[in-house]
Amino acid sequence: MTVSPHKKAKALKSGSRRPAKELCSECGLCDTYYIHYVKDACAFLNQQIAELETVAHGRSRNLDNEDDWYFGVTQEMIAARKKKPIEGAQWTGIVSAIACEMLDQDLVEGVVCVQNTAEDRFQPMPIIARTPQEVLAAKVNKPTLSPNLNVLEQIEQSGMKRLLVIGVGCQIQALRAVEQELGLEKLYILGTPCVDNVSREGLQKFLDTTSRSPETVVHYEFMQDFRIHFKHEDGSIEKVPFFGLKTNKLKDVFAPSCMSCFDYVNSLADLVVGYMGAPFGWQWIVVRNQTGAQMLDLVREQLDTQAVMSKGDRHQAVQQSIPAYDKGVTLPMWAAKMMGVVIEQIGPKGLEYARFSIDSHFTRNYLNLKRNYPEKLEAHVPEYAKKIVGQYKLPE
Ligand code: FAD
Ligand code: SF4
Repeated sequence: MTVSPHKKAKALKSGSRRPAKELCSECGLCDTYYIHYVKDACAFLNQQIAELETVAHGRSRNLDNEDDWYFGVTQEMIAARKKKPIEGAQWTGIVSAIACEMLDQDLVEGVVCVQNTAEDRFQPMPIIARTPQEVLAAKVNKPTLSPNLNVLEQIEQSGMKRLLVIGVGCQIQALRAVEQELGLEKLYILGTPCVDNVSREGLQKFLDTTSRSPETVVHYEFMQDFRIHFKHEDGSIEKVPFFGLKTNKLKDVFAPSCMSCFDYVNSLADLVVGYMGAPFGWQWIVVRNQTGAQMLDLVREQLDTQAVMSKGDRHQAVQQSIPAYDKGVTLPMWAAKMMGVVIEQIGPKGLEYARFSIDSHFTRNYLNLKRNYPEKLEAHVPEYAKKIVGQYKLPE
């Protein structure tokens, strides 16, 4: 008789439940019996983006193509916004709209998404939504590490065969690695970019030191105008320039997982919806494969669209910021300001802003790994990220 890997997993000792230790991003996998696969699946123990890209998209990034380094395997890239934005969504609600259509049109039986707890609007509570109402109740970012994959056991138990999962890069890497074990006929993955995430306590520290009214913040975003926009309960918008951040107090606020991540653009999702490659007010959409194209087609009529654009040159601003990261300044945009580079005047816009942000974070994270986890550097940094970092002169 063969022993089910799931049963074996239950036998693991509790002390070994976060094998990635301090680099764990709380993706949720280890809260389930799929912990059995953790050594292979965890994004922080086994970086395997190129291999998983080939399975998911039919090819991995072309290392001779600079756009592939930055944005991953891409079929189509556009800027879009909902003609009728969803009230209270993070941006215009394209993510929620796609998920609702997939349920309405019976493409999927459930959607893994993140609501918040009744007591705390920023405390993530992953669920499997079965109705558009439940999807809409999950709109807006919970800007904290979220254990999205802790619902994986419920999928198997529910008998669902067609599922949409919404998630950030580290969650999606682990999900792709166990995809074949879930017993699904079809898995759709709708990803968002993600960077500089924090624990719930870290978020509180950030809000308390940065916003004039931390308790009324409904959502916030690090915007392309180099300000943080906090939206408050009364609808007012508070804008705090990056260079106004109290970096001495925020030095260790970002999760160690995010300080060693090179999957900003969610390489393994079928479709990615963010904002950073689009003009202000628009969302940035990257279709990675046919499944992603099918998902986007469901809402195309609800969208205004325009071609992506690119303007400016980021290189000097990124290069001048690098010494600051080495001195422990962890906020890339703020570091660039501190080095006296007037970024607004250099003006990276559209895709160039996205490249600026990717370069800044990857060089910071590369230095962080080199200083603190040198034994991990070679295997953990993907080849495309080495190409990106290789454009800059780094301190020894
Ligand atoms: P909505 O319709 O409001 O839906 C938001 C969806 O996000 C919901 O379905 C919910 O399930 C899911 N979600 C909420 N919180 C989490 C979480 N913690 N983990 C996983 N899923 C979650 N875009 C960029 O271009 N650059 C960035 O640097 C960037 N950083 C991000 C960091 C985080 C932690 C998150 C969650 C998203 C980030 N995004 C980033 C994506 C962007 O902020 C929007 O989420 C995206 O454009 C979708 O907007 P929307 O109005 O369509 O989403
Ligand atoms: Fe487990 Fe996920 Fe943490 Fe890795 S990141 S140790 S898979 S919970």
